[in-house]
Amino acid sequence: MKIAVLRETAAGERRVAASPETVKKYKALGAQVAVEAGAGVGAAVADQAFADAGAAIGDRGEVLADADIVLVVQTPAPESLSGLKPGAWIIGQANPFGERARIERYAAIGAEMLAMEWMPRITRAQSMDVLSSQSNLAGYKAVLDAAHEYDRAFPMMMTAAGTVSAARVFVMGVGVAGLQAIATARRLGAQVSATDVRPATREQILSLGAKPVFVENVAGIEGEGSGGYASEMSDDYKAAQAALVSSHIAKQDIVITTALIPGRPAPRLISDAQVASMKPGSVIVDLAVEQGGNVEGAVAGEIVERHGVKIVGHRNVPSRLAADASALFARNLFNFLSAFWDKEAGHPVLDAEIGDAIRLTQGGRIVHPRLLTDVV
Ligand code: NAD
Repeated sequence: MKIAVLRETAAGERRVAASPETVKKYKALGAQVAVEAGAGVGAAVADQAFADAGAAIGDRGEVLADADIVLVVQTPAPESLSGLKPGAWIIGQANPFGERARIERYAAIGAEMLAMEWMPRITRAQSMDVLSSQSNLAGYKAVLDAAHEYDRAFPMMMTAAGTVSAARVFVMGVGVAGLQAIATARRLGAQVSATDVRPATREQILSLGAKPVFVENVAGIEGEGSGGYASEMSDDYKAAQAALVSSHIAKQDIVITTALIPGRPAPRLISDAQVASMKPGSVIVDLAVEQGGNVEGAVAGEIVERHGVKIVGHRNVPSRLAADASALFARNLFNFLSAFWDKEAGHPVLDAEIGDAIRLTQGGRIVHPRLLTDVV
């Protein structure tokens, strides 16, 4: 059983899908590990550190030769995998709806593509959930990015020269990223409020010492779809939410938006008029910018200024904390593979609940029902 770890090729991607720690653990399971030269450089892991952990270091052709499992953060172009043996697993984030043509090409080269972002949200899979581990870091970094762009302090400061008031931070979307954003902003001394469409988040917001801002008494308020994710909201709800946000947002210094709905574009939460209602010098960080954006005017990969307000739209925020993001991503992959490791067979054997949820291609064709329905 040979596991290959590739150097990422997507623009701006600094993470790596294994760490020296997980290489050692794979070796302890009896696998051979080969790491592409330079794979860890963006995450501050030298080739030597991988070699010391027991990995062979080589060029792409060498690491792919005879590989049974290929670990990546983002899937590379199938054309860059020449020499991959049919039936090999490729494990990473596949962006299944956004990269449909690429997934068809994976099927054509006989690869079995496993999309980690479709890991079911069940208790036993929590330690395998790359969306959670990466969102957590993104929520933290979003607050630091906001603080960096904000020309004032976050905490209240009482000084001999006078008092500096605490920044007001509003977090929209209280999933994994939002919760970490609340906690981080609180640690920096800001006055924090937060909103979500899922009522269960109210308690979580309060438990972190922040103020919940919620739409009340409107039809279609359920907000919770399957697997703990949000669902699309009713038009009445959207109107009530917009009114509530308008009055609240005008008083905020920092807004962090993290709202996502699986399989759909990110919901629009802040209009240009609402941006204009904020004080000059305020900062908005749109963590959903790559999924279409929660904020009107946000541009992926840019910091734009509208009405004196900075709108921050960094791409791939977890990669901005590449060392920690890689270490956690690598552990997610190890937790996944080791949970299914069949000692006698010497390789992992997936069960249907998780295997069928994440397997996109097999035997030369696309097999995932969500992708097949799409075609029809
Ligand atoms: P997400 O990244 O899909 O979305 C971010 C947040 O945006 C969610 O809280 C969502 O409710 C919210 N949102 C969507 N539309 C909105 C709108 N119009 N206005 C305001 N907010 C809106 O969510 P996530 O971080 O992946 O977490 C979703 C849930 O899944 C959480 O309860 C989390 O604890 C749970 N979870 C469970 C597991 C597991 O059991 N394995 C793993 C990870 C997360």
